[in-house]
Amino acid sequence: MTEAAAIMEQASPIPHVLIFPLPVQGHVSSMLKLAELLSLAGGEGGIRVTFLNSDYNHKRLIQFSDAESRFRKYPGFQFKTIDDGLPMDQLTKGEKVLDLMREMGLKTRPIFKDLLAQMDPPVTCVIGDGVLGFIRDVSVEVGIPIIRFRTVGVSCFWINFWLPEIIEAGELPVQGNGDMDRMITKVPGMESFLRCRDLPGYCRVSADDQVLARIVRTTRESSSSPPSPLILNTFDDFDGPILAQVRHLFPKTYAIGPLHEHLKSRLQGTTTTSSSSNSLWKEEASCLTWLDTQPPGSVLYVNFGSITVMRREQLVEFWEGLTSSKNRFLWVIRPGLVSHEEELDGDEIPEELVEGIEKENLKVLVGWAPQEAVLSHDAVGGFLTHSGWNSTLESIVAGVPMICWPFFADQQVNSRIVSEVLKLGLDMKDVCDRRVVERMVNELMVEKKEEFGRKAVEMARMAKESVKEGGSSYENLELLIEDIKLMSSQARELKGCKSSNNIS
Ligand code: UDP
Repeated sequence: MTEAAAIMEQASPIPHVLIFPLPVQGHVSSMLKLAELLSLAGGEGGIRVTFLNSDYNHKRLIQFSDAESRFRKYPGFQFKTIDDGLPMDQLTKGEKVLDLMREMGLKTRPIFKDLLAQMDPPVTCVIGDGVLGFIRDVSVEVGIPIIRFRTVGVSCFWINFWLPEIIEAGELPVQGNGDMDRMITKVPGMESFLRCRDLPGYCRVSADDQVLARIVRTTRESSSSPPSPLILNTFDDFDGPILAQVRHLFPKTYAIGPLHEHLKSRLQGTTTTSSSSNSLWKEEASCLTWLDTQPPGSVLYVNFGSITVMRREQLVEFWEGLTSSKNRFLWVIRPGLVSHEEELDGDEIPEELVEGIEKENLKVLVGWAPQEAVLSHDAVGGFLTHSGWNSTLESIVAGVPMICWPFFADQQVNSRIVSEVLKLGLDMKDVCDRRVVERMVNELMVEKKEEFGRKAVEMARMAKESVKEGGSSYENLELLIEDIKLMSSQARELKGCKSSNNIS
């Protein structure tokens, strides 16, 4: 910092927030949206933001998105990078995400602690990914206030919180396949709809499983006294009943989503572009051109996100079900979607799924789509999704009903909320059969099109209202900004006292 800047800083201290996500696409993307919202935050001096990306993800972000030039417009913003402990050769997918979290706890933790100590101007508040417990531990150790951001659905967080009670009551572990439809009674607010099948994917293990134990520890720590503030990417009209429960235990809960819509709304009327791609993949816009040729509401969009892996026979079941449904569809197949990429060459995999194809009524794109733009395209009338939280919110904002085929973690419960609680679509979890695919696609796109469509449009309206001035998420973000300022000045005072104590 220059001498002049240091003097200004003393006269009018500006909060300095460090944001640190788990290095996978969905977490990086939503936390970057928050970073941009905070960078936009006006008021005296604004907020300084440092975004801590993993080395590998940062290389990809710079290569494939406009994030670098977009953030250059915010003078108080900077990127920093950190080693995530894994070899720098590919993005993490499938169950490897759990290894990533463990490695980071071991290898990244000490590097993070050194980095925090060296930051100039000093960090006054950390916003850490809620699944990385070490971010909280280190921040507490060095005396910096911590806010935890749970990028997944709040229902998953709430279930995690009650896991000890569920286990104690003998409701976990699940006793085999025949037990999957048993109701879970120990999660307040979810007694009427939560089955074993809908518990987060990592609950399908023995009760003494190490991963489960770590998840319980990480969640319960945030209720230590006083519990750390909590940021959630949801909105009151969507998750109201569960949010009310969460707020009893975590009074400082900020539901400020859907973040992508919130950012878009606040950027309106500024000179900054309103498209904010945070993609770690090269986006193929050709699918939008194809969508332009399709009738309104006619296309089912199929995409399983950045982490899902499936077996080759599952890929074939989807293909057969989709083609025999006779509906139009756009299927975006991420390279690496099938467990072992080389197996994609196997004889039984239709060539269209390996090479991609474009016809009048269907398109298979092997690559990565600009998903927000696809979902908001007029031609799209349904979404076959893995129920990742960001995909779910993007579909909700676009008013597009869903068929849910959850892969892991929060996706199992997200799909239950979408189908059973909010009636925004159908849940296909634990089944991958061409006849079921065909039946559900027809139900969503033809037989119950109007019924689902009406509900989806209404939810989209509420999502958009929530981020407008006076809406719940808008107001919650204002409160969060106030609190960041307050926490930052309290942290500075405390540090000032400590250093003056040290001097004397
Ligand atoms: N996404 C995208 N293009 C694709 C697939 C996914 O832009 O072809 C984006 C999608 O819009 C979402 C994110 O990647 O924002 C995926 O996050 P989500 O939480 O839905 O699932 P995850 O990938 O973490 O399982």
